[in-house]
Amino acid sequence: MAKAMIIGAGGVAQVAAHKCVENKEVFTELCIASRTLARCDELKAKLSGRGVPITTAQVDADNVPELVALIRKEKPDIVMNLALPYQDLTIMDACLEAGVHYLDTANYEPEDTAKFEYKWQWAYQERFREKGLTAILGSGFDPGVTGVFSAYALKHEFDEINEIDILDCNGGDHGYPFATNFNPEINIREVTAKGRYYEEGRFVETEPMEIKREYDFEGVGARDMYLLYHEELESLARHIPGIRRIRFFMTFGESYLSHLRCLQNVGMTSIEPILFEGREIIPLQFLKAVLPDPASLGPRTVGKTNIGCIFKGKKDGKDKVWRIYNICDHQEAYREVGSQAVSYTTGVPAMIGASLVLTGEWEKPGVWNVEQLDPDLFMEGLNRFGLPWIVDPAPSLVP
Ligand code: NDP
Repeated sequence: MAKAMIIGAGGVAQVAAHKCVENKEVFTELCIASRTLARCDELKAKLSGRGVPITTAQVDADNVPELVALIRKEKPDIVMNLALPYQDLTIMDACLEAGVHYLDTANYEPEDTAKFEYKWQWAYQERFREKGLTAILGSGFDPGVTGVFSAYALKHEFDEINEIDILDCNGGDHGYPFATNFNPEINIREVTAKGRYYEEGRFVETEPMEIKREYDFEGVGARDMYLLYHEELESLARHIPGIRRIRFFMTFGESYLSHLRCLQNVGMTSIEPILFEGREIIPLQFLKAVLPDPASLGPRTVGKTNIGCIFKGKKDGKDKVWRIYNICDHQEAYREVGSQAVSYTTGVPAMIGASLVLTGEWEKPGVWNVEQLDPDLFMEGLNRFGLPWIVDPAPSLVP
């Protein structure tokens, strides 16, 4: 008997709510709270009659007292933060004050600096520990499943992991010349930043999109992919003993990149406020307002995602290479939960992580990245709740 509060009512929250209702042995009650009450009510209407009572609420997740009051009123056992990374710290503060477990899918980023790092959230370790509360950071796909894959590889397949390449391929086509698959502001901030990878104890910086490789993805085909910095590099570099190199690659099509270049050249991706008709606006937020809402891409996106990790290391004194990945079909995801695969691959692991806290397996006072916890039940959950994994014992390597 457990109640979860989902904060946010966007693409990822929609999937997580569907999956909580599907896993009703664990989630016996839900509260969906977000900035726009109508979106929470719409989601509740879609899920009504499935045996899990749902309440909804309007909340400003930047406002700690408002959050605390809502948590005290609703009394959830866990808060699933599926709003934006800007809200991570206020929601963690509210969880501490109201005495409830916390989970998110993306690490904190200050709204005005476009720099995501774990240091702000890792700093909560003692406070969560002292209160006997669990905070799970980054329980989406990447970060999230990629960390669980790493913990699983280390537990069952390797004595030592030396290199990890995380490959994130979205072979989906939504038919627009330019749109982003999740929150455009977060997405564009991520891809216009400098690249970075971890090697021999330090991070090496690259220009944005400087390193390009081609890889042939099962279910998708050969795609160009680019080295990006991604938040799990920071936590995996810290938590995987013996690691010497970690890189993250994401695929982008030519149309996406040429539009992005153009938008950057004209200043539309900037987060510096400008004065427009007597009012301050942030160009990137204005751009977000004119781009298609990622939630509207679901019905029109076809194709698959293929996301996973290639590990290199040692087993029984011998060199070993091992790959594990998931393929998710945009249309199948849409038919099942009304969201495309990028939201699906994030919302399912958020539900699994929360369920493991609620059933006690991942309940451990403190602040944890997923690779620090036992991966086995999470891996079972992936197979059970729609993200089955595939193992390739002799993969092609990144050229
Ligand atoms: P959306 O923009 O679709 O949804 C965000 C939701 O949060 C919206 O419902 C929005 O409200 C709500 N919200 C925003 N600000 C506030 C606030 N101050 N108070 C209350 N509610 C607020 O984003 P996604 O669903 O695509 O992404 C959700 C999260 O998942 C993000 O943090 C994203 O970075 C992360 N993510 C993680 C991935 C992973 O693999 N780990 C992959 C993809 C996303 P409104 O409806 O009013 O706009």
